[in-house]
Amino acid sequence: MKAYTYIEHERFELVEKRMPSIQDSKDAIVRVTLASICTSDLHIKHGSVPRALPGITIGHEMVGVVEKVGEDVHIVKPGDRVTVNVETYCGECFFCRKGYVNNCTDPDGGWSLGCRIDGGQAEYVRVPYAEQGLNKIPDSVTDEQALFVGDILATGFWAARISEISPDDTVLIIGAGPTGVCTLACVFLKNPKKIIVCEKSEERRAFVKTHYPSVLVCTPEECISFTQEQSGRGGADRVLEVAGADDTFSLAYESARPNAIVTIVALYDKPQILPLPDMYGKNLTFKTGGVDGCDCDEILTLIDQGLIDTTPLITHHFSLSDIDEAYRVFENKLDGVIKVAIKPAE
Ligand SMILES: [Zn+2]
Ligand SMILES: [Zn+2]
Repeated sequence: MKAYTYIEHERFELVEKRMPSIQDSKDAIVRVTLASICTSDLHIKHGSVPRALPGITIGHEMVGVVEKVGEDVHIVKPGDRVTVNVETYCGECFFCRKGYVNNCTDPDGGWSLGCRIDGGQAEYVRVPYAEQGLNKIPDSVTDEQALFVGDILATGFWAARISEISPDDTVLIIGAGPTGVCTLACVFLKNPKKIIVCEKSEERRAFVKTHYPSVLVCTPEECISFTQEQSGRGGADRVLEVAGADDTFSLAYESARPNAIVTIVALYDKPQILPLPDMYGKNLTFKTGGVDGCDCDEILTLIDQGLIDTTPLITHHFSLSDIDEAYRVFENKLDGVIKVAIKPAE
């Protein structure tokens, strides 16, 4: 089968590989029907994910059809349409039982697919701990609608959940890239009094205005004063930082009112400074970390009910044989691209 492979630093290639097979009784083999490219894939390419192993198949955002299951897999069967979770987790360790599945203590726990074990920019993928890693797609939900459930939508859902949003809140979301928009879709369901999206790209601010007309948008330069004005409380009640740019961490806590919750979703390239003497008395609560992607069934239900729709994020389609071109367009943000959808076979 064809598999897009991490050959070495700065080099990915579509190569011919053997079909994956069941290696453990908890595995499933999934025929990929649609995959996407994530910024994290670019981080592997450019060497900022040191634990990524050369030779592995890239890709951790995908949906497909179950082809085979190990003997201990009961909740899905061959023929089921499924989303694949970015995280591998055992479901049994202390952290998994608490719902902190990102911290699963299994050797493959956390983000392994398309990083340390073969991922899904391929025709087939082996999914370990398939009962945790796969979720059935309702019949009325399309592959396009379900494509982001296992990664960026799970991230947005988790971020909205841990931010403890109430109806009286003004919520600021920094960054309207793909994960920012997924976060917005999930914050929207919490019905806060106001949502403000701060985004530097005019194109992406326009995207938010088109798809979420009731949401307020601002630029990073006007963010602090605009948020103060809109909240009437000296800043936002809840801030979700999804941008991960050089100065967006400071923007996040500076835009927050005293006693606010600041949720850091972004992954930074460099260490960030928390100037505690300057913020003494502001009494902020910071929540940081990587997604606990264990709400995928609930997200699929919300999609099925028409309450979440991330299909507008898919701006480009490619076949797996054209994946080099898909990466070129995605990486260089050409032609208004937000997310690409890659089809392994017609
Ligand atoms: Zn990702
Ligand atoms: Zn675990």
